[in-house]
Amino acid sequence: MVELLVASNNPKKLAELEAVLAEAGIAGIELVAPADVAAYPEPVENGLTFRDNALIKARAGAAATGLPCVADDSGLAVAAMGGMPGILSARWAGRHGDDVANNALLLAQMEDIELRDAAFVSCCALATPGGEEFSVEGRWEGRLLRRPRGAGGFGYDPIFEPLGEGGRSAAELTAEEKNAVSHRGRALRELAVHIAELKNR
Ligand code: IMP
Repeated sequence: MVELLVASNNPKKLAELEAVLAEAGIAGIELVAPADVAAYPEPVENGLTFRDNALIKARAGAAATGLPCVADDSGLAVAAMGGMPGILSARWAGRHGDDVANNALLLAQMEDIELRDAAFVSCCALATPGGEEFSVEGRWEGRLLRRPRGAGGFGYDPIFEPLGEGGRSAAELTAEEKNAVSHRGRALRELAVHIAELKNR
């Protein structure tokens, strides 16, 4: 069994990777949460891209624990705003993780803008203690709504209408529907190939 640290305190992300590995028929990888290892300081996410920040987190986890480590960084990229909120998505309105304030500010900024194209982006990175690094990016295209809709999901889901989902917002999809097409699901499925190779080392 190869142990793989998932550098996220969100149990849903661990469960999502577990489901992706099972779906791909990848056995022999045991996912380890930060709570299962000795605590280590969280690195400063001072990168300028999703990829930079995902790698910063994956490298820190691998260096602190001696285990290969997966991390992701994600956000919403709005075309008319040059890709913002982007890496600032979680703290767009100033306070980290205030979803309601983030959505309200973004909708106000975009009030007079007709071009509503937007995409969720996720970069997933894998770093090994030996210094190997892989990173992949997944995108989920759609458009920004004018008002929040739906009670599921998190973050910007209520104001994002993905393409090809019958006009529903991301917050109106089930978790299974979202994982099958989302930015993170796509990136994790691509990264799974590299995760499977850990067993050959
Ligand atoms: P993190 O990479 O998990 O820290 O996510 C960064 C931020 O991007 C979150 O706080 C959300 O605001 C936003 N975000 C990332 N993925 C999603 C998603 O699937 N739905 C809604 N918001 C998301």
